[in-house]
Amino acid sequence: MENLEHIPVSLDLGEIKRSLHMERSGDWSQVQTLVELAQPLIKARAVYRVCYIEEKLEDAIRIDGICLKSRVLRKNLEGVERVFPYVVTIGDKLETKARSCKDLLKQYYLDTIGNIALVTARRYLEDRFRSRYALDGMSSMSPGSLKDWPIEEQRPLFSILGDVEASIGVRLNQSLLMIPSKSLSGIYFPTEIAFYSCQLCPRKRCPSRKASYDETLAREYGILE
Ligand code: SF4
Repeated sequence: MENLEHIPVSLDLGEIKRSLHMERSGDWSQVQTLVELAQPLIKARAVYRVCYIEEKLEDAIRIDGICLKSRVLRKNLEGVERVFPYVVTIGDKLETKARSCKDLLKQYYLDTIGNIALVTARRYLEDRFRSRYALDGMSSMSPGSLKDWPIEEQRPLFSILGDVEASIGVRLNQSLLMIPSKSLSGIYFPTEIAFYSCQLCPRKRCPSRKASYDETLAREYGILE
């Protein structure tokens, strides 16, 4: 298991502005003060493994004897041998700070800053995969993003990675949510054409959507939610 202890996270003020819809109006000086407050509370770390798929089943794959059950993942891994399961986190200090704020607007700003920090840390991981393992196109999937790969699949994913809590302090609670909550998990794999779970997710008005829903594609994958 590879352990990244000190992921540099440089917060992009433009990205924060866009996320908060503050390009033209809003109290930007207050947000800047919160960015300064947030920066030292961000401790980004990650674990990942370079794994070879042991067996491809009809709607699942097996790695080290552990099964990941998803028709979509299985289809995405046709022709792929090497995959990269990962967990990345920014720790719990920023969310603790946000929770302690009585001002709900400040809480919201700090939460948004945390989300951007987390995505920035994951981008660092992606760049590392690209440069270190000579990958051009990459996509990822996460347990819980589609009905086809439900949240229960966090367990086998964490089992593949080993002792994630001892490595970077991330554990699963009884609902299989990650603690600290500002954490992301999933599996990266090489692809020629970018894949987003959002293409198969019909949820309306999702602020995190990265691609439009594609019913034809959902049919091709054999799922229609
Ligand atoms: S549309 Fe939203 S809920 Fe659906 S997969 Fe994308 S980010 Fe997740």
